[in-house]
Amino acid sequence: MKALVKSTRKITEIILHCSASREGDNWSVEGVRKYHKSLGWVDIGYNYYIELDGSVKEGRNVNITGAHTVGHNANSIGICYCGGVDRNLKPKDTRTDAQKEALYALVNELLILYPQATIHCHNEYANKACPSFKIDQFKKELKQWLEQKHEHKCNYK
Ligand SMILES: [Zn+2]
Repeated sequence: MKALVKSTRKITEIILHCSASREGDNWSVEGVRKYHKSLGWVDIGYNYYIELDGSVKEGRNVNITGAHTVGHNANSIGICYCGGVDRNLKPKDTRTDAQKEALYALVNELLILYPQATIHCHNEYANKACPSFKIDQFKKELKQWLEQKHEHKCNYK
């Protein structure tokens, strides 16, 4: 993906989501954008979107407040991965290895751009399963990934 553009908004939170689409169904960023616009929204609700193959796509312009977490949109960046439920629409962490890798790399880049930001899951702020994993688990994964990468300049806290 292209180098990340720093938002003109003050960013204090990075919030993780899933698209709640069935495991294996590949919804492109344009498909989700079209769906959100059909709801009457100005654009896709998330700022970044990770497709099944790990492609990181730009969603809503980072300078514009997203629509993904009630009460937390103004000062956050919303990231969504494609998936998050099984074939019966039950919550399931369906991230592919490529999506995990892309998510760690994206969050790490964002923490360098916004060193004061903290990472969260949607399920911390709403009675929802989204993104079908817990923040403690994600932080553990990210730490492991960073250690494997011997990444010392990151701002992860
Ligand atoms: Zn969500």
